Amino acid sequence: MKAVVKYGKGKGLIEIREVPKPKIKEDEVLIEVKAVSVCGSDLHIYHDAHPYWPPMILGHEFSGVISEVGKEVKGWNVGDRVVSETRTGSCGVCYICQSGFPQVCEQKRAIGIGINGAYTQYVAGPARLLHRLPENVPFEVGAVIEPTAICVTSILERSHLQAGESVIITGPGPIGLISLAIAKTAGVKLVGITGRSSDEGVRFEKARELGADFTINVDQEDPVRKVLEMTDGLGVDLLIETSGGSKAIYQAFDMVRRLGRVCAIGISGRDEIPIPYDRGIFKALRYDFCFSSSWTAWEKAISLISKGLLPAQKFITHKLPLEKWEEAFHLLESLQAAKVILIP
Ligand SMILES: [Zn+2]
Ligand SMILES: [Zn+2]
Repeated sequence: MKAVVKYGKGKGLIEIREVPKPKIKEDEVLIEVKAVSVCGSDLHIYHDAHPYWPPMILGHEFSGVISEVGKEVKGWNVGDRVVSETRTGSCGVCYICQSGFPQVCEQKRAIGIGINGAYTQYVAGPARLLHRLPENVPFEVGAVIEPTAICVTSILERSHLQAGESVIITGPGPIGLISLAIAKTAGVKLVGITGRSSDEGVRFEKARELGADFTINVDQEDPVRKVLEMTDGLGVDLLIETSGGSKAIYQAFDMVRRLGRVCAIGISGRDEIPIPYDRGIFKALRYDFCFSSSWTAWEKAISLISKGLLPAQKFITHKLPLEKWEEAFHLLESLQAAKVILIP
């Protein structure tokens, strides 16, 4: 089968290769991949700015159909429509796993990052990581459940966004746009999103379509002044940081109200970022660093999408055959896309 393989450490070093179909272990299933979504992390891996363990097939945001079931697997059958969590390798016995957060286990080697992923026709994985994909959710939408679950984990479970609150999101990339949709679903009274002049085309347009009350082009407007103006001088209840930009991370401390929260999802790609530490103390801010997704968030994301409460179809701007992975990467890097789906 054909697969997009990251074959070495360093920048680039990705190509389509002919690889053998994976063999499953007794507790695993083989999934025929129907759709796989390109993630910002895949771009970070391309640029050698994210942990990864080559050689491995890329792709961790996917949906498909079970085509083989291991001997010990119960409750799953050939033909079942599924999506899979990516926390392969989590040990299950360390303090972090036992306390209910196996997605943060140090031993984790995620699908498409630490082991072979889904930029191909078939992917093998443990049955315990599967979630059922309802009939009314198309496979391409199934492929964006993973990033949606990350946003649900971060925004709803970790930073406890509540109905009636005000929110600003920094960065209108895929995670920023999904965060926006989740904020709308949660019933916020006000939500804005920041970006740059290069986002005026596709991404701000998408943000408005998803219901943003306002957008801020930081190349033209001071985001702090604008946020204070929109909140009668108070600042927002919650800031969702998805840009990874050092200026946005610094300014967050002035956009959030006293006793407000920052939900940090975006990776900066740098070793250090300066922050106005004392201002955080005097305002008694809460800063939630977020990583990966919980089992419960997957179930919530799937239900919200299946019941029509979260318009995940709208995250998708492009669909391409797997062979065009380079074009997909380019569309994302040139800010012309939100979510790009590859079809093997
Ligand atoms: Zn991802
Ligand atoms: Zn563990």
